[in-house]
Amino acid sequence: MTDFEFLQDGLKDQQGYMQMVQSIMEVRARGAQPLAYIRTYGCQQNVSDGEKIKGMLQQMGYSFTEREEDADLILFNTCAVREHAEDRVFGNVGALKNIKRRHPSMLIALCGCMMEQEHVAERIRKSFPFVNLVFGTHSLHRFPKLLYEALFTGKRVVERGVDDHTIVEGLPVRRDGEFKAWLPIMYGCDNFCSYCVVPHVRGRERSRQPQAVLREAEELIRSGYRDITLLGQNVNSYGKNLEQPVNFSQLLGEIDRIPGNYWLRFMTSHPKDATQEMIDTMASGKHICHHLHLPFQSGSNRVLKEMNRRYTREKYQEMILYAKSKMPDLSLTSDVIVGFPGETYEDFQETLSLIREVEFTSLFTFIFSPRVGTPAASMDDPVPYEEKSAWFRELLNVQEEIAAKRCASLVGQELTVLVEEKTGKDGELSGRTQGNMIVEFPGDPSDIGRFIKVKVTQARNWILKGEPAEQ
Ligand code: SAM
Ligand code: SF4
Repeated sequence: MTDFEFLQDGLKDQQGYMQMVQSIMEVRARGAQPLAYIRTYGCQQNVSDGEKIKGMLQQMGYSFTEREEDADLILFNTCAVREHAEDRVFGNVGALKNIKRRHPSMLIALCGCMMEQEHVAERIRKSFPFVNLVFGTHSLHRFPKLLYEALFTGKRVVERGVDDHTIVEGLPVRRDGEFKAWLPIMYGCDNFCSYCVVPHVRGRERSRQPQAVLREAEELIRSGYRDITLLGQNVNSYGKNLEQPVNFSQLLGEIDRIPGNYWLRFMTSHPKDATQEMIDTMASGKHICHHLHLPFQSGSNRVLKEMNRRYTREKYQEMILYAKSKMPDLSLTSDVIVGFPGETYEDFQETLSLIREVEFTSLFTFIFSPRVGTPAASMDDPVPYEEKSAWFRELLNVQEEIAAKRCASLVGQELTVLVEEKTGKDGELSGRTQGNMIVEFPGDPSDIGRFIKVKVTQARNWILKGEPAEQ
């Protein structure tokens, strides 16, 4: 029996638990549909996990509510990447105490990355006795069993750190969007950047079989999804652990060959593994957006080394130059950390100079946050937080100027836009370009979920304004 067959078998057990949960809840809710309130924190991988949790709950007969007070089950799917996210979770869990007092039969569950950390589990055990169920990222597919145990026994159920180093296919998914979809191609991370908790809480890299990814992509395209993002912490290592190795560029090319009216993008690429082959596949693809999210984290080679990123500023610049030469309309986005331990103002200036050189469309910017168990958490960190905040503001100002300049350069162009939503202004819609830029324009809500051409007439900072172009 292969691992894969074994896990499909395990999934059959979960089907049994789903039915048992449904029976319990039918009795408890006296025939009414039980309600779940789900809150997801953090990255797209977590959002994708949240969609699976909702898929399983839907199969267990649950429907969903936006009001915590109305819920039979409250579940927080947590993020551990920065202290700020962790503090928000603890604050919000604390606030549930009163709701639980008013609704004692309500079940409170916590899952996701934070739950894989020992100090967090300890704090929950001591300070939040009203939490009924705790499970980590590795236990996601066992959620029905764990929920059943919590409901049936009335006791607190905890399952953490059970990494079976594998992937479970076939979990039900309830997608949040109707035309934008996340498609995980791999899980975990082997990179151990010195500041990052992800490898510690999500385990080693595991790639999905290419057939499974292709099947899901075909289904999404057939069901009318227009913007599909392939997900992984480091998509460039896709396939390394498969029996018949397939690399990321090959997978990307295969998906791109599926006929249909859709855009394809991916995140996250790691500069140490990004290849010219991947850029070539992007450039020659029919559906692949000319948008590359390539986190550089720092412009200083000294800091990059301390971060254990395993590339240099020069290697990063080389990849960017190559990508721009193949796709002159390329939109680049990135992640950057300010105030890594030992970073000097001179190091920080190198980050700014890289930002000016590359001219990113937008940046995800973070002030360094020490994470328990990571090497960076115990490095000397002499720069006070206030000073780091001042650097951070300096960086934001530089990036705002660049974003405004990039937007201004698009005035007069006709761009294809995927229409996303109403803006709140009468008769106005907003959408995104291939490069992930926001465009606002007059239009009819019936266009939401469609591609339309918009002529850019104005740039307001990083938002474009336009008029629908003649089709
Ligand atoms: N795997 C992706 C990569 O390597 O680019 C990123 C995953 S991580 C969830 C998203 C971003 O969070 C990182 O790129 C980094 O900029 C930021 N980040 C991670 N750990 C951090 C920390 N301890 N302090 C501040 N920012 C952090
Ligand atoms: Fe974290 Fe680095 Fe892995 Fe990204 S590549 S998830 S930053 S360890």
